[in-house]
Order: sequence, then structure tokens, then C-alpha cells
Amino acid sequence: MKGLMQDWPLRVTTIIDHAARFHGDREVVTRTIEGPIARTTYSEIHLRARKAAQALQKLGIEKGDVVATMAWNTARHLEAWYGIMGLGAVCHTLNPRLFAEQLIYIINHAEDKVIFLDLTFVPILEGIKDELPKVKAYVVMTDRAHMPETSLPNALCYEEIVEAENGEFKWAEGDENDACGLCYTSGTTGNPKGVLYSHRSNVLHALAVNMGDALGMKSTDAMLPVVPMFHANAWGISFAAPAVGAKLVMPGANMDGESIYELLSTENVTATAAVPTVWLMLLQHLQKNKLELPHLERVVIGGSAAPRSMIEVFEKDYDVQVFHAWGMTEMSPMGTLGSLKAGMEDWPLDKQIDVKVKQGRAIYTVEMKITDDDGNELPCDGEAFGHLMVRGPAIAGAYLKGEGGNILDEDGWFDTGDVATIDESGYMQITDRAKDVIKSGGEWISSIELENLAVGHPKVAEAAVIGIAHPKWDERPLLIIVKNEGEDVSKEDILDYMEGKIAKWWMPDDVAFVDEIPHTATGKIQKLELRKMFKDYTLPTAQAAE
Ligand code: AMP
Repeated sequence: MKGLMQDWPLRVTTIIDHAARFHGDREVVTRTIEGPIARTTYSEIHLRARKAAQALQKLGIEKGDVVATMAWNTARHLEAWYGIMGLGAVCHTLNPRLFAEQLIYIINHAEDKVIFLDLTFVPILEGIKDELPKVKAYVVMTDRAHMPETSLPNALCYEEIVEAENGEFKWAEGDENDACGLCYTSGTTGNPKGVLYSHRSNVLHALAVNMGDALGMKSTDAMLPVVPMFHANAWGISFAAPAVGAKLVMPGANMDGESIYELLSTENVTATAAVPTVWLMLLQHLQKNKLELPHLERVVIGGSAAPRSMIEVFEKDYDVQVFHAWGMTEMSPMGTLGSLKAGMEDWPLDKQIDVKVKQGRAIYTVEMKITDDDGNELPCDGEAFGHLMVRGPAIAGAYLKGEGGNILDEDGWFDTGDVATIDESGYMQITDRAKDVIKSGGEWISSIELENLAVGHPKVAEAAVIGIAHPKWDERPLLIIVKNEGEDVSKEDILDYMEGKIAKWWMPDDVAFVDEIPHTATGKIQKLELRKMFKDYTLPTAQAAE
């Protein structure tokens, strides 16, 4: 027997319709690429998204076509995003930090027909335009006064084409399972692969990430997503914030500590989300200038492991609640978030932080388990670690055009490539990426745990750990350090600091100092590159063992 409820397709346009109808005057504030702060509202964004859809239609874009954006978090990006999806096309967010060859591959593979771009990215696309035969037009997201001289073929001015329309446009109708978003994974091996989100998966993900135990945004919140819309949908915030009418504060191109602090304080931001490197810059700025964060209530940290030292500073020095989150592009992207469970509110702060250091509990819609190499499920005891497997309606079932073949096991589980523990209360903790874990004497050492400990040293700016071949132990950890500006610190200082805080056999065999640690396009430490840099490196302990 079928239920007798209304058939209301879960399409993302319903989100912006709701925002405009019930929170129409709620602000979206942007630090524009041209410089000044710009203010608009959800009803204005709703109107201009429809105008953008009309403009795209005039350019010949139809339902199912792919339209790309190469843009920072701005109100214009949000309009274009809803306009593209509202036309029934697929919004492909390009990560401008990718190498030229990767961008060329992705744009051609996705068959992008039009690219919306910020002023910042005109030179990048000019550099590769000759390799992009399928792109029919480039829409520069600025006004006529700021339109640059450009060699891009068919370069259009966003404000001109949008304002030429009247906004009398009815969103495309269709199945909730239609594609509406596309984001390529930042996989470090092989070609990037396309994750094709549907209207339904994005709506469900928006509802799931916004539950009280997850992002828990309300209409009274002001949310600053530092995490870019081109990195897995700004963790769902571009859907979840309008769904509740939360004010959005968009940082544009400036993500340094000073710029973020300025927006946090002048716009009374209550919640914000970013990767640890952004928070490192903010905290340095706050400490250097003796500043406070009086309005901020919650900070979400994800994308890479949040070090304990960072969580402690936010919680203890600034009275801001930290939520550690984990996810991946293939998961829309949020998988877990570390809010406390009943009973834990009364725990002493340090004991709460023991929980917050973990990557958190599965949000509703995410099924999660850990398995051994043979696929057997491992116990949730906080000790056993294994392959982290996930399943759910906002998790990829295949990559675009079948790249990578079948990505699910016979029971429909997706292997995240992460190794993790899950404890009795359901809190998951990432041990490592499966390929980064250090295999020493048949046991595993978590590179993440060593890195997080080392950055707690006050003179260390960033730390990375890789396994180096060892004649006796197979692999041993090498700790690679970037010192804080103007500080000096020795190998012995660092090892003394770590001593006693981890098992003795986990202690790094050596410490190397570098000026910079290489990062991927999404801000993660590029272990592959580090392994190349240190491929001829011999550990002092290896010489002794020979
Ligand atoms: P991406 O698809 O670029 O978002 O990368 C996803 C990967 O980032 C995950 O599979 C993890 O390896 C890593 N990751 C994301 N969040 C965290 C976190 N909080 N702690 C540790 N690793 C994380």
C-alpha cells in the first residue's frame, strides 16, 4: 500500500523559494572581489537567480547542460548557483587552486558550456582557453565599470546580462533525482573524478547537516562560511543557511586572519566553518592584536584533523564552542560532527575536549562502520581501527561517466579510504588516510596524531609526518616541521615536548625542518609530494640498524 501524501519533489529551488518567501529581508553580506562590502537579501538573490537563469537560457543553455563557476563565496556566486540549478542545468564548481592540466581535464570531461568566473580568475582561464573547445561563453561576475580587457572568447559582463532580464521565470520542474551539482574530487592519484549531486541528495543533506546536533543553524544566526562553495558545496551551508533564513556573510577572496576577524566582529557572526589552516591564521591574528570574539558562538573545523591545541584555544581563551567535522566530496560532504551527547554537558571542559578531538558522530542519513581487510565489521570500542565504510542517500553511488568503475561493495557500502576507530558512544576518530598510515613492525602509527601533537608546541606553525623506509621496522615516522615566523626550535626541543604524550614506539625517529609544507587544492597536506621530497632520505636509526 502506498502512502497518500503529496508528491513534492525535493528540488533545491524550494530552498531559495522558502528563503525569499519567509526570510526575504534577511541579509547576505559579501566582501566583494572589487573591494567594498555589499549587502543584499534572500528576496533579491531569488529574483536575480531567476534573471541569471533567463540569461543562461538566452545563451542556449538547456536542462541537463553543465555550467561551471570559478568563484569565491559571494552573493553573486549564490545567485548564479541557484540560477543554474533552477534552470535544470548542473552547476559545476571549479576549484581554482587546481593545476592548469587538471582544470583543462575537468572542464572538458564535464563538458562545461558556460563558465561564470570572478575577476580574480580571468588570467587562469585566459591561460587555458585554447584547450577548452566546448566552452561557448565566459561570464565575468562583475559590473561594466570593472570589466577587464580580456582575451577570453565571448566574454560577457554578469551584471549586464542579468540586469537585462525581468526575472519572470518559472523554475524548471522535474524529478528530484535529476542532477544539479558537480564537484570533482581532489584525488591525489589518477585523474580527478566527478561527484554528481542530485536535487534530492542536496536537499536531504541540507536538512541533515542542519539538525540541532549538527550545524543547528537558526534564522537568528549569522553564518560565515569560509569553506569555499567550490569545496564540496561549502559543506552544505549554501543550501542549509537559506533553508532556515540564517544571515550569510561571504568572505570573497580574503581569508587571512585580519579579514575574517573583521567580518566576524562587524557582522555579528554567530557561527562559522573552515579548515584548520584558516583558524590558525585567525588565532594568530587574535593573539597578536589582543582581540576578542564576543559574538561568535560556534566554530566548525573540518577538512583535516583539528589539533587539540586549536580546540583548546577556541574553547578556553575565546569561549567559542568547537565542532569537529569530517566528510568528503563524495558525501555531499558532511559525514560526522562532534557535538556532545546527553550527560556530557556537565563534564569538566578537558574531558569534553577529549570527545571534541574526535571527528564526531554520524549525522542522520549517514550509515557508518569500520571493517578489517577482509570486510568483516570491527567492534565500536574506540580501540579497533579499520577501513571506514559509509552508506546513505547523499553519498556517491558512482563517479561521472563511470570513471573508477564500481565504487560500492556488494552491500552498497562506499570505502572512504580513511582508517578510523568508532567508540561505544558512536564517536568516530580518523587514524589516517589508509595510504598515509605508517606501518612499523607490523603495527600502525597514526601520522595525524603525531602531527596534531607536534603543532601543540608553541614554536611550531605546521607539522607533517610521513613513513620512511627502515631496514628493521619496515617504516618509521619522520616529523617535518615549519617553525613559527621568527622562532627557533631544535629537534631535541620538539621530541622532549612529545615525550610521554604518546607511546614510546610512536616517537618520530627524526625531525626535519622545512620552509613550507606542500598543500593540495583543498588545503590538505600533500603527503605524496613530501614523500617525493624525502625519497632519498635516510633515518639516523636506519644507519644504526644496518
Ligand atoms: P575532500 O573530498 O577533499 O573533502 O577530502 C576528504 C578527505 O579529507 C577525507 O576522506 C579525510 O581523509 C579528510 N578529512 C576531512 N575531514 C577531516 C577531519 N576532520 N579530520 C581528518 N581528516 C579529514
